[in-house]
Amino acid sequence: MVMSDIEIAREAKMKPIMEIGDKLGIPAESLQPYGHTKAKIDLDYIKSLKDKPDGKLVLVTGINPTAAGEGKTTTSVGLGDALNRIGKNAIICLREPSLGPCFGMKGGAAGGGYAQVVPMEDINLHFTGDFHAIAAANNLLAAMIDNHIYWGNKLGIDERRVSWKRCLDMNDRALRQIANSLGGVANGFPREDGFDIVVASEVMAIFCLSTDLEDMKRRLGNIIVAYTRERKPVYAREIDANGAMTVLLRDALAPNLVQTLENNPAFIHGGPFANIAHGCNSVMATKTALKLGDYVVTEAGFGADLGAEKFFDIKCRKAGLKPAAAVIVGTVRALKMHGGVSKDDLGTENIAAVVKGTSNIKRHVVNTKKFGVPVVVALNRFITDTDAEVEAIRKELASEGVEAIVCTHWADGSAGTEALANKVVELVEGGSADFKPLYDENLGLLQKVEAIAKNIYDAAGVTADQKVLNQIKDFEALGAGKFPVCIAKTQYSFSTDPNAKGAPSGHTLPIREVRLSNGAEFIVAVCGDIMTMPGLPRVPAAEKITLNDQDQIEGLF
Ligand code: ADP
Ligand code: MG
Repeated sequence: MVMSDIEIAREAKMKPIMEIGDKLGIPAESLQPYGHTKAKIDLDYIKSLKDKPDGKLVLVTGINPTAAGEGKTTTSVGLGDALNRIGKNAIICLREPSLGPCFGMKGGAAGGGYAQVVPMEDINLHFTGDFHAIAAANNLLAAMIDNHIYWGNKLGIDERRVSWKRCLDMNDRALRQIANSLGGVANGFPREDGFDIVVASEVMAIFCLSTDLEDMKRRLGNIIVAYTRERKPVYAREIDANGAMTVLLRDALAPNLVQTLENNPAFIHGGPFANIAHGCNSVMATKTALKLGDYVVTEAGFGADLGAEKFFDIKCRKAGLKPAAAVIVGTVRALKMHGGVSKDDLGTENIAAVVKGTSNIKRHVVNTKKFGVPVVVALNRFITDTDAEVEAIRKELASEGVEAIVCTHWADGSAGTEALANKVVELVEGGSADFKPLYDENLGLLQKVEAIAKNIYDAAGVTADQKVLNQIKDFEALGAGKFPVCIAKTQYSFSTDPNAKGAPSGHTLPIREVRLSNGAEFIVAVCGDIMTMPGLPRVPAAEKITLNDQDQIEGLF
């Protein structure tokens, strides 16, 4: 019988977190334990590491996701464990899971099978409280905006143009659009408002891109919260909110240390959306891990067209990171879907379809190399995959000069990713990486979107109506012209049509709207429907989650 993720996690032989920290050379007094198996790493200690040399950064990214599931997180954990297994000092850096997907459809985000980070339940649920701190900071700002209006509105905020929303870490469609301040004079001025999920808050993006507390405070102050009747932006610093927000976030900004099932160190910190934000764990965690480990394995959300591109063009560019190699995760099942097979027929062997579906992964390989980073493909093996299918993919990719390594970490732990780890070491030590972002920061904002559309999506071009072009001009006038762009589009395809599987070409990328994340320092180009407050599915995972008669959590996966 195959055990569920939570059953495997429950049997983990965890070491005291102080021991895991000790292995990394972190003095006991620089770890703030949260119970016995989680700890935060002291910010002063992190500062003291400034002059240490950096380890090598390895990105784990993937093909365009399908309903079949790819296993990027699982592979990141498997690779981290395998690097340790072959004698490297490796640390894994992942995002913190959001409660939305845990109780909704996707489930937890702590890896799977024998490649997980633990304590799985804590990591998936409240963990060390970071998301709650982020929600509190976000909502303090919201409260201060309405309070400013209530007490005379000295800044002249146009109540119809308050752009700052409240947030909550829950999938709750009922809160997408609301009316607030109802009920009479004492409750303020009624206006339309709404909630985003915490991971979509600009505070989350800022938290993840900040290099220290001071940088975070500065960025929080730069958030545009509203506009006046004359369309002049109003900044969070003008209502004096950023100091108190920083106070609420101070402890949260310290990275969280946990361990894998194999007792290797993992930093789990921050978790921005991969559509309207950049989709990777905090700069604080990644930079700290690079000081403490020789190898750092980190994951970017969604497929490489969104996740890796943003990781490179936003996170690495802004934080000065230089990735040394990238792993692109694919599965037989997902490649079959990219080859045209429907979800219900995935159980049947179909060599022609998997070979056809490799068009998707090949495109991602070519794209990733454009950033000057050497690439290897990891085939995350499911027990239902046939040998013939796996072999066909390997051969097809080899004929194009791409090495694909079969990995069985989900079933076998680090023993199943040893070959991948050896290959990653070979790529890193080969020293061929010469990282460069895709576009120059001095390009116009529209040209930046065009560069991504043409070079990454293989689109023919970009369209935008006059309203969008005017917005772009306004943003450039506000000093945001040098910011990188963050594209929000479907994760299921290179194009904006989620059903265009494989490697579509020649499509156009319509920019529907642009948004300025002035504190996070990027421009969001919205190219499709994006949901900043998801809803629960017809049968949410929450219906199956409960405590059993031993008070253990059941149903979290
Ligand atoms: P991603 O990070 O790409 O979204 P995850 O690593 O979180 O994907 O995996 C998604 C789900 O798929 C998890 O529940 C995990 O247990 C499962 N999974 C991943 N790899 C395998 C595999 N090889 N066999 C079976 N299930 C897997
Ligand atoms: Mg993941």
